[in-house]
Formats: sequence, C-alpha cells, structure tokens
Amino acid sequence: MTFQDPYAAQREQLAQTIREKGLRDLAVLDAIRETPRHLFVPEDQRERAYDDNALPIGENQTISQPSLVALMTSLLSLNPNDCALEIGTGSGYQTAILARLCRQVVSIERIETLSLRAQAIHQQLGLENILHVVGDGTLGYPALAPYKGIIVTAGATEIIPPPLLEQLSSEEGHMALPLGDRESQWLTLVVKRGESLFMRRYGQCMFVPLLGEYGW
Ligand code: SAM
Repeated sequence: MTFQDPYAAQREQLAQTIREKGLRDLAVLDAIRETPRHLFVPEDQRERAYDDNALPIGENQTISQPSLVALMTSLLSLNPNDCALEIGTGSGYQTAILARLCRQVVSIERIETLSLRAQAIHQQLGLENILHVVGDGTLGYPALAPYKGIIVTAGATEIIPPPLLEQLSSEEGHMALPLGDRESQWLTLVVKRGESLFMRRYGQCMFVPLLGEYGW
C-alpha cells in the first residue's frame, strides 16, 4: 500500500496473530497486511476491525474471521495467472484478498446492497480484476469456468452444489467450503484431478447458511 494509514500497525499485528495460529503462506500473509479490513466493516465496528473475529455487516450477514479467511484462501493454492470464483461476496474483504493473489475473481452475492457496497470499496482500492455478480451462487458462473479455485463463504449442506463441482478445473482445481448443518460445519477442501475428487476436512466452523437452489 502506498499511503500511510492509522491502522497499518494493527494490520501487521493481525498478520502476526494469523502466523502464530500456524498459517505460513507468505503471499496470503502479505495480502492480509495490504488489505484495509476497516474499510469493509460498518463505521461503528472500525475499532474492532483488526481483531481476529467475525463482525456484523448488516443484512443479518457477517464479515468472516480473518484467520479463517487466510486459511481458506491458502487452501486454494492460487497462482498469479489463475481465475477464482467466490460464492458470498458479503463485505468484499475476502474478495479483495483473492484479487491480490490471482488474475481474475468472480464474486457472487445474492443481496444486491452488499454487492454494490463491496464493489464501491474495491473501486476505491483500485482492484480492477473483480467481476461482481448478483444472484444465486450455488449455480456458479459458467461463462468464465473452469476455475482453479472456488471458495464458498457460507455454510453449505453436506451435498456440494453440483454446478460448482462441474465448474471446478479438472487440472488440480481446489475448492474450500464449509459443509454441514445450519448451525456448524466442517471446513472442507475438495481437490479435483481429472474425474476424481479428493476431500479433506479441517476444523469446525460456523458460517451463515448458503441459500439458493443447491443450498438451504
Ligand atoms: N466472504 C465474506 C466477507 O469477507 O465479508 C463473508 C461472507 S458472509 C459470511 C456469507 C455471504 O454469503 C452473505 O453475504 C450471504 O448473503 C451470501 N450468500 C448466501 N447464500 C448465497 C448464495 N446462494 N449466493 C450468493 N451469496 C450467498
């Protein structure tokens, strides 16, 4: 970031906290350092913006916990030339992190006001490689598929939305998503290699529900 802001030290501290929790992905830690999370939370939450917690963002939705954002991003193993799909733009913070790590991000949000707010912040930050889509993310966005990385930032049922599996690249596509019930889920990584799927579960997590045709 080229300008000084009063939150720079808190951002550095947040990156340290995430590192101490075990994340060693330097590119993701740099993205956390460079992304002004305080811009993505409501004004009355700004002093808490760099705590490692989820926070309310209005519309009964939340901005996710930064260490979880960092872990899920890292699980995608993105390269700079990759295209990623995000389901659940929410505040747009996770989107901004992804946009620093790959060529193009498609981010789908079902609540238009959230999508428009995120879009304005991304514009302010000069992030030009994001396509904002309003709609049902469980259907994915076939026009730009396949995606090397897909991230779902709302809690899905145990059945992974079939359109997302179809749109995941068969050449080592990585998808990170919470799978489970409405109250709690398992953070899950799905890797697609040819026609084969490999799944690994990480810790338990709590996301707002993924709604829509292939959601709740
Ligand atoms: N990644 C976000 C961030 O950094 O702020 C947090 C996302 S919030 C936990 C989950 C979001 O998923 C909500 O904004 C919700 O409206 C959205 N959502 C839920 N179901 C959806 C669907 N089928 N399609 C698109 N967005 C959906």
